[in-house]
Amino acid sequence: MLIRDVCSLALYCQKCGSIHIHDVPYFSAERRTELYCESCGHEKARLLRLGKGRVAVEASCVVCGTENRFVYALHRLRHVGLEKIYCMTDHFELGYIGRRRRIEELMRFNQEEFEALHPHDGKNFIEKQRILLEALNRVHDMARDGDIVCPCGGEELTADIRGSYIVLECERCGSFCVLRAENAGDLEKLRFGVGLRAPSRA
Ligand SMILES: [Zn+2]
Ligand SMILES: [Zn+2]
Ligand SMILES: [Zn+2]
Repeated sequence: MLIRDVCSLALYCQKCGSIHIHDVPYFSAERRTELYCESCGHEKARLLRLGKGRVAVEASCVVCGTENRFVYALHRLRHVGLEKIYCMTDHFELGYIGRRRRIEELMRFNQEEFEALHPHDGKNFIEKQRILLEALNRVHDMARDGDIVCPCGGEELTADIRGSYIVLECERCGSFCVLRAENAGDLEKLRFGVGLRAPSRA
Protein backbone atom coordinates (compact mmCIF):
# COMPACT_ATOMS: atom_id res chain seq x y z
CA MET A 1 0.00 0.00 0.00
CA LEU A 2 1.28 3.42 -0.91
CA ILE A 3 1.10 6.00 1.81
CA ARG A 4 -0.46 9.15 0.43
CA ASP A 5 -1.42 11.03 3.54
CA VAL A 6 0.41 11.11 6.81
CA CYS A 7 -2.66 12.11 8.71
CA SER A 8 -5.47 14.60 8.72
CA LEU A 9 -5.89 17.88 10.47
CA ALA A 10 -9.07 19.61 11.53
CA LEU A 11 -8.87 23.09 13.01
CA TYR A 12 -11.63 25.41 14.17
CA CYS A 13 -11.67 28.53 12.04
CA GLN A 14 -10.69 31.30 14.44
CA LYS A 15 -12.98 33.66 12.52
CA CYS A 16 -16.28 31.80 12.07
CA GLY A 17 -15.71 28.71 14.21
CA SER A 18 -16.47 26.10 11.56
CA ILE A 19 -14.31 23.01 11.28
CA HIS A 20 -13.26 20.98 8.22
CA ILE A 21 -10.80 18.17 7.65
CA HIS A 22 -7.60 18.70 5.66
CA ASP A 23 -5.24 15.90 4.67
CA VAL A 24 -1.54 16.24 5.33
CA PRO A 25 0.22 14.68 2.34
CA TYR A 26 3.22 12.49 2.94
CA PHE A 27 5.02 13.80 -0.11
CA SER A 28 4.53 17.36 -1.08
CA ALA A 29 6.33 19.61 -3.54
CA GLU A 30 5.21 22.60 -1.52
CA ARG A 31 7.33 23.73 1.36
CA ARG A 32 4.51 25.81 2.68
CA THR A 33 0.78 25.25 2.39
CA GLU A 34 -1.89 27.58 3.70
CA LEU A 35 -5.09 26.04 4.94
CA TYR A 36 -8.17 28.17 4.45
CA CYS A 37 -11.60 27.95 6.01
CA GLU A 38 -14.08 26.40 3.59
CA SER A 39 -16.86 28.54 5.01
CA CYS A 40 -15.42 32.05 5.25
CA GLY A 41 -12.03 31.90 3.53
CA HIS A 42 -10.07 32.95 6.61
CA GLU A 43 -6.54 31.52 6.78
CA LYS A 44 -6.70 28.83 9.46
CA ALA A 45 -3.14 27.56 9.52
CA ARG A 46 0.12 27.18 7.68
CA LEU A 47 1.70 23.82 7.11
CA LEU A 48 5.46 23.93 6.71
CA ARG A 49 7.84 21.22 5.61
CA LEU A 50 10.91 21.22 7.78
CA GLY A 51 14.07 19.17 7.33
CA LYS A 52 14.62 15.75 8.90
CA GLY A 53 11.11 14.51 8.17
CA ARG A 54 9.32 17.05 10.29
CA VAL A 55 6.36 19.24 9.65
CA ALA A 56 5.22 22.36 11.45
CA VAL A 57 1.66 23.54 11.91
CA GLU A 58 1.29 27.25 12.64
CA ALA A 59 -2.06 28.33 13.98
CA SER A 60 -3.02 31.39 15.93
CA CYS A 61 -5.41 31.51 18.85
CA VAL A 62 -8.06 34.21 18.68
CA VAL A 63 -8.67 34.08 22.43
CA CYS A 64 -5.19 35.10 23.58
CA GLY A 65 -3.51 36.11 20.32
CA THR A 66 -0.71 33.54 20.55
CA GLU A 67 0.87 32.45 17.27
CA ASN A 68 1.31 28.77 17.96
CA ARG A 69 3.86 26.62 16.20
CA PHE A 70 3.59 22.85 16.63
CA VAL A 71 6.37 20.66 15.25
CA TYR A 72 5.70 17.00 14.52
CA ALA A 73 7.86 14.17 13.22
CA LEU A 74 6.14 12.65 10.18
CA HIS A 75 6.90 9.09 11.28
CA ARG A 76 5.17 9.77 14.61
CA LEU A 77 2.15 11.42 12.97
CA ARG A 78 1.53 8.28 10.96
CA HIS A 79 0.78 6.49 14.20
CA VAL A 80 -1.34 9.14 15.88
CA GLY A 81 -4.92 7.96 16.27
CA LEU A 82 -6.54 11.16 17.42
CA GLU A 83 -5.10 14.02 19.42
CA LYS A 84 -6.26 17.45 20.43
CA ILE A 85 -4.36 20.52 19.37
CA TYR A 86 -4.61 23.30 21.87
CA CYS A 87 -3.12 26.74 22.32
CA MET A 88 0.18 26.59 24.17
CA THR A 89 -0.66 29.69 26.21
CA ASP A 90 -4.23 29.26 27.41
CA HIS A 91 -5.06 25.68 26.34
CA PHE A 92 -7.95 26.83 24.19
CA GLU A 93 -8.89 23.91 21.97
CA LEU A 94 -7.85 24.68 18.39
CA GLY A 95 -8.63 21.37 16.68
CA TYR A 96 -7.59 17.78 16.12
CA ILE A 97 -4.92 15.80 14.34
CA GLY A 98 -4.88 12.11 13.49
CA ARG A 99 -6.64 9.53 11.35
CA ARG A 100 -9.26 10.98 9.02
CA ARG A 101 -11.80 8.32 9.96
CA ARG A 102 -11.46 9.05 13.66
CA ILE A 103 -11.81 12.81 13.12
CA GLU A 104 -14.88 12.22 10.94
CA GLU A 105 -16.43 10.13 13.67
CA LEU A 106 -15.70 12.81 16.21
CA MET A 107 -17.34 15.43 14.01
CA ARG A 108 -20.35 13.15 13.57
CA PHE A 109 -20.61 13.23 17.34
CA ASN A 110 -19.62 9.61 17.73
CA GLN A 111 -20.03 9.22 21.45
CA GLU A 112 -17.05 6.92 21.98
CA GLU A 113 -14.62 9.27 20.26
CA PHE A 114 -16.17 12.13 22.10
CA GLU A 115 -15.80 10.71 25.54
CA ALA A 116 -12.21 9.71 24.84
CA LEU A 117 -11.25 13.29 23.96
CA HIS A 118 -13.81 15.30 25.91
CA PRO A 119 -14.72 13.39 29.05
CA HIS A 120 -16.25 16.47 30.69
CA ASP A 121 -17.47 18.54 27.78
CA GLY A 122 -20.71 16.83 26.92
CA LYS A 123 -22.05 15.87 23.56
CA ASN A 124 -22.10 19.10 21.62
CA PHE A 125 -18.61 20.39 22.24
CA ILE A 126 -17.84 21.06 18.56
CA GLU A 127 -21.00 23.12 18.10
CA LYS A 128 -20.32 24.98 21.35
CA GLN A 129 -16.79 25.75 20.24
CA ARG A 130 -18.12 27.08 16.93
CA ILE A 131 -20.60 29.39 18.66
CA LEU A 132 -17.99 30.55 21.14
CA LEU A 133 -15.57 31.50 18.36
CA GLU A 134 -18.29 33.24 16.37
CA ALA A 135 -19.39 35.20 19.43
CA LEU A 136 -15.82 36.15 20.30
CA ASN A 137 -15.23 37.47 16.79
CA ARG A 138 -18.44 39.50 16.90
CA VAL A 139 -17.33 41.00 20.19
CA HIS A 140 -13.89 41.79 18.71
CA ASP A 141 -15.54 43.48 15.71
CA MET A 142 -17.90 45.48 17.92
CA ALA A 143 -15.01 46.65 20.11
CA ARG A 144 -12.97 47.56 17.03
CA ASP A 145 -15.85 49.58 15.59
CA GLY A 146 -16.32 51.43 18.85
CA ASP A 147 -19.69 49.79 19.52
CA ILE A 148 -18.67 48.71 23.00
CA VAL A 149 -17.57 51.58 25.19
CA CYS A 150 -17.34 51.45 28.95
CA PRO A 151 -19.39 54.04 30.90
CA CYS A 152 -16.02 55.45 32.08
CA GLY A 153 -15.17 56.23 28.47
CA GLY A 154 -12.56 53.50 28.28
CA GLU A 155 -12.30 51.75 24.93
CA GLU A 156 -9.56 49.29 25.82
CA LEU A 157 -11.25 46.01 26.67
CA THR A 158 -9.97 42.54 27.35
CA ALA A 159 -11.93 39.41 26.47
CA ASP A 160 -11.48 36.21 28.41
CA ILE A 161 -13.06 32.81 27.93
CA ARG A 162 -14.49 31.00 30.96
CA GLY A 163 -16.07 27.78 29.80
CA SER A 164 -18.78 28.90 27.39
CA TYR A 165 -18.85 32.48 28.66
CA ILE A 166 -16.97 35.51 27.41
CA VAL A 167 -15.90 37.94 30.08
CA LEU A 168 -15.28 41.47 28.83
CA GLU A 169 -13.44 43.84 31.09
CA CYS A 170 -12.51 47.50 30.86
CA GLU A 171 -8.75 47.97 31.21
CA ARG A 172 -9.24 51.36 32.78
CA CYS A 173 -11.86 50.94 35.49
CA GLY A 174 -12.49 47.21 35.79
CA SER A 175 -16.14 47.34 34.74
CA PHE A 176 -17.11 44.09 33.17
CA CYS A 177 -19.73 42.08 31.37
CA VAL A 178 -20.34 38.33 31.21
CA LEU A 179 -21.77 37.07 27.93
CA ARG A 180 -23.04 33.56 27.48
CA ALA A 181 -22.00 32.04 24.14
CA GLU A 182 -23.56 28.63 24.13
CA ASN A 183 -26.32 28.62 21.55
CA ALA A 184 -27.72 30.48 18.56
CA GLY A 185 -29.95 32.56 20.85
CA ASP A 186 -26.89 33.88 22.66
CA LEU A 187 -25.39 34.97 19.33
CA GLU A 188 -28.65 36.68 18.47
CA LYS A 189 -28.58 38.66 21.72
CA LEU A 190 -25.24 40.17 20.79
CA ARG A 191 -27.06 42.17 18.11
CA PHE A 192 -28.68 44.22 20.84
CA GLY A 193 -25.33 45.42 22.06
CA VAL A 194 -23.16 44.86 25.06
CA GLY A 195 -23.15 46.91 28.24
CA LEU A 196 -20.50 46.93 30.93
CA ARG A 197 -21.20 47.52 34.58
CA ALA A 198 -18.99 48.55 37.44
CA PRO A 199 -17.73 45.82 39.77
CA SER A 200 -19.53 45.80 43.10
CA ARG A 201 -17.27 46.98 45.88
CA ALA A 202 -18.66 44.59 48.44
ZN1 LIG B 1 -14.21 30.47 8.77
ZN1 LIG C 1 -4.66 30.98 23.25
ZN1 LIG D 1 -14.19 51.57 32.27
